Amino acid sequence: MKIHEYQGKEILRKFGVTTPRGKPAFSVDEAVKVAEELGGKVWVVKAQIHAGGRGKGGGVKVAKSLDEVRQYASQILGMQLVTHQTGPEGQKVRRLLIEEGADIKKEYYLAVLTDRATQKVAVMASSEGGMDIEEVAHATPEKILKEFVDPLVGITDQQTENLARGIGVPEASLPQAKAEIAKLYQCYMETDASLAEINPLILEGNGNIKALDAKFNFDSNALYRHPEIVEYRDLDEEDADEIEASKFDLAYISLDGNIGCLVNGAGLAMATMDTIKLFGAEPANFLDVGGGATTEKVTEAFKIMLKNPKVKGILVNIFGGIMRCDTIANGVVTAARETHLSVPLVVRMKGTNEDIGKQILKDSGLPIISADSMAEAAQKIVDAVK
Ligand code: ADP
Ligand code: MG
Repeated sequence: MKIHEYQGKEILRKFGVTTPRGKPAFSVDEAVKVAEELGGKVWVVKAQIHAGGRGKGGGVKVAKSLDEVRQYASQILGMQLVTHQTGPEGQKVRRLLIEEGADIKKEYYLAVLTDRATQKVAVMASSEGGMDIEEVAHATPEKILKEFVDPLVGITDQQTENLARGIGVPEASLPQAKAEIAKLYQCYMETDASLAEINPLILEGNGNIKALDAKFNFDSNALYRHPEIVEYRDLDEEDADEIEASKFDLAYISLDGNIGCLVNGAGLAMATMDTIKLFGAEPANFLDVGGGATTEKVTEAFKIMLKNPKVKGILVNIFGGIMRCDTIANGVVTAARETHLSVPLVVRMKGTNEDIGKQILKDSGLPIISADSMAEAAQKIVDAVK
């Protein structure tokens, strides 16, 4: 799960990470009011969307008067902000963060994330923070320092020292920089984040270290332990079909292709998508109906897939283990009838009660194409949508 920058900063503050003062605003008037309350001479008006690259896309503006705050707030609020992370259609801005302008002397990069290869927590830092970090990672990866933290030991003084010194934090600011790194690590661990990124972490003219941006990803499997984080969820930023699917406990991810897939088991779902690709087409979605799919669940799954206008055919691939093939077959028939299915449907089922399942499909009188192997199923659906 992702959250907005202003929410991320609220979390950072709880863990003692230094951030600029600021508050969210949902209207232009509110933006001006927040700026007035903050006081000072320079404010930053920041679009809040669940995507990075806002600065380059025109979603972050420095205002030198309250009039400018008003002007930028009205410009940004409601705009369709396009960044390299939103895709070409962009994302509508519905919230702003108004914060005090910082006196930036140097921009660093700092992030904590899960490193699968080492099974440790990677803390990464770079002297080249700011809006071009992707380019730095690509062209000069040696400028990104990494420390791998054993979660049983925690981050050590030596590690924060290596990072802070390694990115060139001046001597006088080292103790604070080391403390900020340790606090971000703590924050990452205690919130069950999978990514906690501050880009830029800045050095101010007065030597102070501050987090100017905040990006978090949280492990969805751990959210039950963090109701305060779930509160931050912003459904406007999420895929409507994925939200609908989660209501029925379906694991659904929208993709760009034209073949809808309905599968039981995440591994089989992945393999099914691979097989579709192997036969030259692209899946429209990932969909795992799980082990305990009922007729109702299968029907909902069909409805969600068919809402996508790009879907030109559906492939159902079921392995009947605990799940029985006849249950799925009944679900598929009901769903096909209820949704007045008008695109080709290929069904492959193997395992428990396979014969009964196949008979149900046959007796339904629906134009369901059946297949025995995965290759045959993929080939048939790819041919059918051509
Ligand atoms: P994004 O990463 O989405 O582009 P950031 O929050 O990192 O958004 O902002 C982009 C840039 O805007 C930063 O690298 C920084 O130079 C500048 N900036 C952001 N917040 C402030 C602030 N409070 N004061 C001064 N400059 C800021
Ligand atoms: Mg940033």
